[in-house]
Amino acid sequence: MFISERISAVVGLSAVMVVIFSTRVLGLTGAPVDSMANQRQQMVTHQLRGRNIVDARVLSAMKTVPRHLFVPKYLRHLAYRDTPLPIGHGQTISQPYIVALMSQLLSIEPGRRILEIGTGSGYQAAVLAEMGVQVFSVEIVPELGHRAIKTLRPLGYKNIRVKIGDGYQGWGEHAPFDAIIVTCAPTGIPEPLKDQLTEGGRMVIPVGEAGQQQLLLLTKQHGDVKRKKIVDVRFVPMIDRRGKTY
Ligand code: SAH
Repeated sequence: MFISERISAVVGLSAVMVVIFSTRVLGLTGAPVDSMANQRQQMVTHQLRGRNIVDARVLSAMKTVPRHLFVPKYLRHLAYRDTPLPIGHGQTISQPYIVALMSQLLSIEPGRRILEIGTGSGYQAAVLAEMGVQVFSVEIVPELGHRAIKTLRPLGYKNIRVKIGDGYQGWGEHAPFDAIIVTCAPTGIPEPLKDQLTEGGRMVIPVGEAGQQQLLLLTKQHGDVKRKKIVDVRFVPMIDRRGKTY
């Protein structure tokens, strides 16, 4: 090999190394990918596995979905902490453990159809989609719904549909659903949601006045809805179009 060939080989090699280095270290957002993946793994190990999250699909989905892309840029460094975070318009993305717990309670099988009320950032919808179900999600604040669509689009989920509207009414056009997950709290269980659940279906919903809400697991059997209290929780209220609490 001549000197000039050797030099170009070395230059070529280092160019390749620069490309590999930069794609490995910098993600889509310029955030360090490895550090985010590490934080995500830590979140799964300590906040989920370390508590009572055992559903392999939930654990795998939450290890995969880039939660930091669903929170405002100035809060990205906190995305994997054990806490809810503000997402604007007075709303919040739930704490990772609550997302995992609600997802696990739905007993999801791939291919099922799930209705979510309260798209918010779109994170919960992404976790469910990653578990292989068809997600229909309704958000009442148009700006949040549109932003969620924008966040979800580049991630390539084909199995999520978002509608701007009042989720108290469910999404009749696509009913019935195998499961319903409600991420804002009404003071009573909305009748339209009960009606849109299939026989044998499950609904996970926080119910109650601010400061005294309980997460309930409802199961529909022979047309009747059985309820089980899971844990005390704190969610934003379910509101109507005028901002009044349901
Ligand atoms: N699941 C979300 C968290 C949502 S916070 C996430 O993963 O980020 C609760 C959301 O419910 C808020 O975005 C709020 O605007 C929405 N919401 C409140 N009342 C609603 C209603 N009647 N119909 C649909 N969405 C509603």
